[in-house]
Amino acid sequence: MPQLFAQVILPLSLHDAYTYRIPPSMERDVAPGKRVIVQFGQRKFYAALVSSVSTEKPEDIEVKEIQQVLDEHPVVLPKNFEMWHWIAKYYCCTLGDVFRAALPTGLKLESKSKIFLTGSEEEFLLTDVEQSLMLEIEKGTNVLAELERKLKDRFSYPALKALMQKDLVYVEEKVHEKYRPKTEAFVKLHPDVTSEEVLNKKAGEIKRAKKQEALLWHFCSAINAFEKGGLSEIARKDLFEGTNFTTSILKGLVDKEVLIQYQKQVSRIEEEKTEQVSLNLLNKYQAKALEEIRESYESKQVTLIHGITASGKTEIYIHLIDEAIKTGKQALYLVPEIALTTQIVQRLKNVFGHKVGIYHSRLNSSERVEIWEKTLLFQEKPGEGYQVILGARSAVFLPFSDLGLIVVDEEHENSFKQFDPAPRYNARDMAVVLGFQHHAKVLLGSATPSYESYHNALTGKYGLVNLTRRHSEMELPEILVADVKRAYKRKEMHSILSPQLYNLVEDALEKKEQVILFQNRRGYSPFVECFTCGHIPKCTRCDVSLTYHKYKKRLSCHYCGYSYLLPDRCDECGSPELKTRGFGTEKIEDEIKQLFRNARIDRMDLDSTKTKNAFEKIVRNLEDGKTDILIGTQMVTKGLDFEHVSVVGILNADNLINFPDFRAHERAYQLISQVAGRAGRKHRRGTVVIQTSQPDHPLIQLIQEQDYQKMLKQQFEERQLFKYPPFFRLVKIVVKHKNIDTVDRAAQELANGLRKNKELVILGPEFPLISRIQLWHHKEIWIKIDRRLHLDQVKEGIMAAVKKVRSMPSLSNCIFNIDADPM
Ligand code: ADP
Ligand code: ZN
Ligand code: ZN
Repeated sequence: MPQLFAQVILPLSLHDAYTYRIPPSMERDVAPGKRVIVQFGQRKFYAALVSSVSTEKPEDIEVKEIQQVLDEHPVVLPKNFEMWHWIAKYYCCTLGDVFRAALPTGLKLESKSKIFLTGSEEEFLLTDVEQSLMLEIEKGTNVLAELERKLKDRFSYPALKALMQKDLVYVEEKVHEKYRPKTEAFVKLHPDVTSEEVLNKKAGEIKRAKKQEALLWHFCSAINAFEKGGLSEIARKDLFEGTNFTTSILKGLVDKEVLIQYQKQVSRIEEEKTEQVSLNLLNKYQAKALEEIRESYESKQVTLIHGITASGKTEIYIHLIDEAIKTGKQALYLVPEIALTTQIVQRLKNVFGHKVGIYHSRLNSSERVEIWEKTLLFQEKPGEGYQVILGARSAVFLPFSDLGLIVVDEEHENSFKQFDPAPRYNARDMAVVLGFQHHAKVLLGSATPSYESYHNALTGKYGLVNLTRRHSEMELPEILVADVKRAYKRKEMHSILSPQLYNLVEDALEKKEQVILFQNRRGYSPFVECFTCGHIPKCTRCDVSLTYHKYKKRLSCHYCGYSYLLPDRCDECGSPELKTRGFGTEKIEDEIKQLFRNARIDRMDLDSTKTKNAFEKIVRNLEDGKTDILIGTQMVTKGLDFEHVSVVGILNADNLINFPDFRAHERAYQLISQVAGRAGRKHRRGTVVIQTSQPDHPLIQLIQEQDYQKMLKQQFEERQLFKYPPFFRLVKIVVKHKNIDTVDRAAQELANGLRKNKELVILGPEFPLISRIQLWHHKEIWIKIDRRLHLDQVKEGIMAAVKKVRSMPSLSNCIFNIDADPM
């Protein structure tokens, strides 16, 4: 038999695939999609993923052997691999980057591999080096890097390998440590107890052990023993629930061979006992929209549904998912991470029961592995695997075998984009590619579609369906604009609330209705300033002022996390007069508490939602009417559905509109419409107040008119003129180095290289708004790419240009972050 080689992907940012020899003993086990342990570099081990197997021996290089095969079955399907290749190419990153993003932590093996003794009794003659290695491992040093450090010259990889071959030590990857199936104690009747008669007899024998007898009868009634529809077993914890029985009483029954107790593998994922309910009936507008979507799918792969807030898009998604799974296919439903609350999870579980898996970053790594495996399982055992996945962006990487439908809700959301690290992918766009790959239909939904998607719909690439009525037939909220500049001049601003907003809030509270106040800044105040000398404390590592958090009494950097206690005096002049400036959500909470002393006030921002269930709790309190006023950052905008919110205040629209970014207006429009959309969803028309000092700003007027088409028309003209998406494609490259001169030089070299391609429009290099983060200086280059150009070629050119700069003397340790379709 010819020698076999495996090409593997390592979980490192490397561009090439690496080849390893397959030892004869592993020939049967190595296959594409399985993980194997390989050595890379001098003495590092990794779990790599086999991408292919062949007899081709790479020339001129020494080929190492695979150490171990980790999986019985492939964990990644050939289809998924294809996608990985697409991602690497499109997002200008390496397959290793994709590998790291795709697999849940529990399936990855970091370089911190551990070495353990096997406990083998066999006697071997060991060399001195082998001896000292063994001794060190016996002492408890088991991390490879540690061994190396402690033993210095006495460490050698061949010696370690020799020990492995002699079966004296083994490498344990974190993988096995991290994921062990969870088991639970179960109880059932002893096999000898075959009938009610035998049972009664046994019960008679234990009459004197009162507690045991009681437990036996409790058990029988819990499982409905010997009755039609009775159970054969029960989890011990369910058996004991609400009783005083103990394991020792149970043990008595086990010893007497009445019951048996055993461990059984159970799912880590809480199975909520949900009754499956049938689908909601669609209202006539939804029914029509659904019909139009179906029609659109006859000729289009992708359809965009532009449905106003509270029009009931979710119901339409559920109907489509139901149709898709009836054809035996899988469905993927993507939502922004933050929208994954019980609201949506419960709605889906009610309808699809155990067929649904939920995948997001707040799950622990074992739970994620389980979802991964159950998605994979669908191919072999459709009844046991997950057919519907509801997930945040990383769910696009799950090992789907046969998708029939992909829904992307709130498709305009930038949380579908991964900013860092590479791959800097957009899950919405990947969903479209995934759809093509699986021949699955794709539905993008939003009340404020992204310009990219809307453009695709206008040009006929996607189908377009409109839904213009709220389910409750409630009108969209009335939008009022409060001119705060004028109010200040007239001395009418007695607080952060304009008189208009103040009155509306007061009125709502009186009527027992709820209020949402939106401010896009967390913390107490965005900066503090010395009243005497004007000094503003800044981060020592980043180019930003420090935000004051009153609750913790600290100044902290929102870019690197650096923080310290607010000093008593100014660092510069020693004056004790440090003043807080501007309004963050914390300060607003303080003020609102002063203004409305009887109101129950809650806050939703990154700081108040750090603990595990905090976010859910805030949502539930508002749902249950336990909160009167909710103050929040953009977190409050993401698809939440509240019944009794009648007033929404946008406290400072200026900082949204004036943000220096070509997407600022698109975002401001989306954000404000989405927050506004939380108002008046069910019972009464809502009111929204936008506070601004630029009431005549064209965007404010467009928002007030709620005329998406009109806004689009104006914006498209600008975007076309200035060569921005959706008319041009963008690639952003950030060059980073700790030395400012090095960044300058590298960025300039790169720009020069890129400018050789005359068809590209190159902007920069320029310092971005925040040009230093964690001591690293940043410089940006923006590349505008005409849509008619061959994208693959352009990207290859970009990669080549970066590679060239990287190979220049003294520039090799610069970091180049390439971001395709930046947001
Ligand atoms: P959207 O996602 O379009 O903003 P939702 O799907 O959250 O809107 O729907 C808004 C509210 O209306 C929800 O409370 C939902 O339960 C309700 N709703 C929408 N359509 C229906 C329907 N056909 N039957 C019953 N309730 C519906
Ligand atoms: Zn000062
Ligand atoms: Zn910082």
